[in-house]
Amino acid sequence: MKLSELLQKDELHLSFEVFPPKTDTAFASVKAAVEEIAELHPSFMSVTYGAGGGTSRYTLDIAKNIKEQHGVPTLAHLTCVSSTKETVREKIAQIKEAGIENVMALRGDLTPEMEGADRCGWAYRHAVDLIRDIRASGADFCIGGACYPEVHPESTTQAEDIRYLKEKVDAGCSFLTTQMFFDNNLLYNFLYKIREAGITVPVIPGIMPITNANQVARAIKLSGSFMPRRFASLVDKFGSDPNAMKQAGIAYATDQIIDLFANGIKNVHVYSMNKPDVAAKIQDNVSAIIKKGI
Ligand code: FAD
Repeated sequence: MKLSELLQKDELHLSFEVFPPKTDTAFASVKAAVEEIAELHPSFMSVTYGAGGGTSRYTLDIAKNIKEQHGVPTLAHLTCVSSTKETVREKIAQIKEAGIENVMALRGDLTPEMEGADRCGWAYRHAVDLIRDIRASGADFCIGGACYPEVHPESTTQAEDIRYLKEKVDAGCSFLTTQMFFDNNLLYNFLYKIREAGITVPVIPGIMPITNANQVARAIKLSGSFMPRRFASLVDKFGSDPNAMKQAGIAYATDQIIDLFANGIKNVHVYSMNKPDVAAKIQDNVSAIIKKGI
């Protein structure tokens, strides 16, 4: 199923993100964890693309398995920053052959070497270049793009970031998924600004349940997200006890999701980090709310 169809329905949806294994030896355990999450029958599941394309072949294996064995619609991520036109053409053909209908078109993060490099000769400088190529390939994918309620770290202003976001949507994105955030007001402000800028496609908020203290620094560093005082106190108080931290992190994420649904958001994507127990708990916490609908 194309996500553009799903997102238009007057229903509430919860979806999960998983990531592929980094090595051959980890494949079986990742596949098992992903299958447990698929058994929860979320609205859809997204499968990330390893940074730099290193584990790219597994993205499709995992996505295909979720769709074929569990009947869950899938969204395969694809990054382009270190790719040639030929590689991307091949990837697009493989995604199509695998029967995947939804592609998350991303630039990918720059490595420290790339940051200082002359980017003039690059085949892909921004995600918009990939989106245009996917559209030009004639493949009938539903394309998603990434967006940043707290501004992408490389952008100097939010206005500039939103201008490029509009370009991405105009190039052919049917929906956007956000970077993680821990304060819903940042999302509501962002939505107001992008709607004002003429971006009308559905925006799926991405929620990251922080279930262990070690995750905090890494998640904040990667995303540049603001950590609200309420969330910091919870990590201070419970971070040293794994069970307490997990419970508190799930409760915090649940609270964010309920607030989003209560404020008119219809679709929430959970960065489930291949943790079936966390995904199951969150889904259970909002099951009656989802059943009630909009
Ligand atoms: P872009 O849209 O290209 O934006 C990057 C920067 O360039 C922004 O500052 C933007 O304002 C600016 N920009 C955009 N277009 C132009 C233009 N035409 N001219 C000048 N500046 C421009 N990474 C992975 O490696 N694998 C994944 O699976 C993955 N999944 C992700 C899923 C989500 C929902 C999100 C939010 C991020 C994900 N990432 C993933 C991380 C992502 O690759 C990085 O955040 C990356 O730095 C930017 O990717 P992008 O597609 O948003 O880039």
